[in-house]
Amino acid sequence: MSDSEGCLFCSIVKGEVPSTKVYEDEQVFAFEDIAPKAKVHVLIVPKKHVASVAELADSDSRTLAHIVDVARDIARERYNGSFRLVFNTGADAGQTVFHAHAHVLTGEVLDE
Ligand code: 5GP
Ligand code: ZN
Repeated sequence: MSDSEGCLFCSIVKGEVPSTKVYEDEQVFAFEDIAPKAKVHVLIVPKKHVASVAELADSDSRTLAHIVDVARDIARERYNGSFRLVFNTGADAGQTVFHAHAHVLTGEVLDE
């Protein structure tokens, strides 16, 4: 597992960096993306630091499955249940924060 020291999303989970919380339980923390790319753009992160969803799949598939449940529930509560779930994985794919996170995009008809 990669280092959690200085990790932005670990700081958000701990409340050291402010965020607009959407949902929280023992396994995950969900909050509004600071630069939304859709009417509803929520990030869901495992509370435990792992660098990417690839690492999460290796180490904790239960939490990975739970992230999908939480995304589904957010899309039902905030829209009509339709949503896009994105995990940028690795710098070449556009990952900029190296703490695993799901982007939940919903709230409107999304572009291709
Ligand atoms: P990535 O590019 O790694 O898949 O996604 C990182 C996401 O984190 C981006 O959509 C970016 O807008 C969001 N982000 C970066 N810094 C912050 C922050 O301080 N607070 C919040 N709420 N979101 C952030
Ligand atoms: Zn972290």
